[in-house]
Amino acid sequence: MHSIAIHGGAGTLPRTALTPDREAAYRVGLSSALDAGFAVLEAGGSSIDAVATAVRILEDDPLFNAGRGAVLTIEGTVELDASIMDGRNLAAGAVAGVSQVRNPVALARAVMDHSPHVMLIGTGAEAFARTRDIELVTNDYFKTEARREQLRRMLGGGAHPVNELSSLGTVGAVACDKAGNLAAATSTGGMTGKRCGRVGDSPIIGAGTYADNASCAVSATGHGEFFIRTAVAHDICARVAYGGATLSQAVEAVVMKRLANMGAEGGVIAVDGNGRIVMRFNSEGMFRGARSSDGTQMIGIWPDREE
Ligand code: ASP
Repeated sequence: MHSIAIHGGAGTLPRTALTPDREAAYRVGLSSALDAGFAVLEAGGSSIDAVATAVRILEDDPLFNAGRGAVLTIEGTVELDASIMDGRNLAAGAVAGVSQVRNPVALARAVMDHSPHVMLIGTGAEAFARTRDIELVTNDYFKTEARREQLRRMLGGGAHPVNELSSLGTVGAVACDKAGNLAAATSTGGMTGKRCGRVGDSPIIGAGTYADNASCAVSATGHGEFFIRTAVAHDICARVAYGGATLSQAVEAVVMKRLANMGAEGGVIAVDGNGRIVMRFNSEGMFRGARSSDGTQMIGIWPDREE
């Protein structure tokens, strides 16, 4: 069975925070990324192409905290992180702290495919982007009025920003293609009001992203510091590979117990080599969607509102 799942971030998301129009807009954004990724799989394309396609669309959608529409640092700038991993051969690419790359996931893919490295950061990553014809934009391209307002509210509130980290909208995808190959990708602006230079879990292979044909593919979203410390994505894969857990048992243990016990909000999407998808979060909501060749198709935001 081939299948794909995507997320658009997890966090505190009261139903009252989304007007019907806004909720509809999120659902449209998620659907278009999901359908584009699924179309790659349907056409016999690889899981790595499917996740790159879906994440790129979400990066271009200003509703999500990745690419255009990403959250702002404490200095009002945008710094982006992304990663991608191929479960066939454990090839991986990541970028962190880039401020001019329109689609960080495309640059992460280029690092994987065209460099001997796994992770490039900041200006060095952007210099590499120039050699690969990756589109560069000004930092202002990423900034939306909604994110400016979010930062103003945070700074105006008098609370120290680290106590008010708000990150909703990180994006990611996992997929299993017709050949049973797995892949995962994640992209984010991080957390609102973060210190410049802060790097979260999303570009860290093993924390925010991991894919191994021997177990599963995982993309995470949530309070990145905790996700790094618990190596979330690799922990889930390891429980499946060596611990005899099913994918849903592994996800349950990590998201609902290990992370929840630390007070770490967030969730993951995951898929195994049979195309079975698991999506789980310990926060109020997680923007998400899934499509499989068995006809499964859903977009969800809250735990009990799935279709
Ligand atoms: N995990 C991301 C980070 O810490 C944020 C998020 O997923 O909401 O940078």
